[in-house]
Amino acid sequence: PIAVEAVDLVKVYGAGENAVHALRNVNVTFERGKFTAIMGPSGSGKSTLMHTLAGLDSATSGHILLDGADITTMNDKQLTLLRRHKIGFIFQSFNLLPMFTAEQNILMPLTLAGQKPDRKWFDMLVDTLGLRERLGHRPNELSGGQQQRVAIARALISKPSVVFADEPTGNLDSVSSAEVLSFLKRSVKELGQTIIMVTHDAVAASYADRAIVFADGQIVADVDHPSADQMS
Ligand code: ADP
Ligand code: ADP
Repeated sequence: PIAVEAVDLVKVYGAGENAVHALRNVNVTFERGKFTAIMGPSGSGKSTLMHTLAGLDSATSGHILLDGADITTMNDKQLTLLRRHKIGFIFQSFNLLPMFTAEQNILMPLTLAGQKPDRKWFDMLVDTLGLRERLGHRPNELSGGQQQRVAIARALISKPSVVFADEPTGNLDSVSSAEVLSFLKRSVKELGQTIIMVTHDAVAASYADRAIVFADGQIVADVDHPSADQMS
């Protein structure tokens, strides 16, 4: 089954002679339960693709199907609900709230939506991510790898079907990166998550089931079971 599909996706920023063609007719499908890396040089359109697929940014033309529903025809209210229930985000800079504990940060999406956590799911995430002993700590008392694992738990707490990760290991050392990537890989297998990750790092991409390479707003390569050698 297909989790996310882009059909003839075009994104143009600006107009006239200042127009930037960030996505040039992109066609791609992401299967459920797969971990895909998106690579390519800076400015090639990776972030734009993530933002439009996630409904954070509107497309100029084309369609995006998320679990079969066309998000390009949704209004703001529908998009907000979709982001809340179906999509998780992991950012390079973690984006944790400094005044709150790890536990409060993890539960924040549910708190904001006025929802009660599924305690079993919370416990499973916390234990799988090795955060049990850190729940009462604030972000500045955690290492970078721990902060990113808190951010991952926060992205997964509402059981989204699709998780978007923008350079999730960009601020981490190689040991913490390996921890985070192993978890993402396992999450795909054990929890059935679909993960789409932008990365500059060939080693990070080698954890994915598939790597898509972007250049100048288009897909120029699509590789199954990428190796680090192949991607660098
Ligand atoms: P990448 O993530 O691969 O670095 P981006 O998607 O950020 O690439 O950018 C693709 C192109 O679109 C670049 O030329 C960038 O400068 C341009 N771009 C991105 N966002 C905007 C924006 N909000 N306004 C104008 N141009 C933008
Ligand atoms: P990254 O590639 O790490 O995501 P960027 O520097 O490409 O970071 O983009 C950071 C933010 O700035 C994004 O939200 C993007 O849409 C916006 N952006 C990128 N290029 C431009 C641009 N030329 N004009 C305006 N906004 C831009």
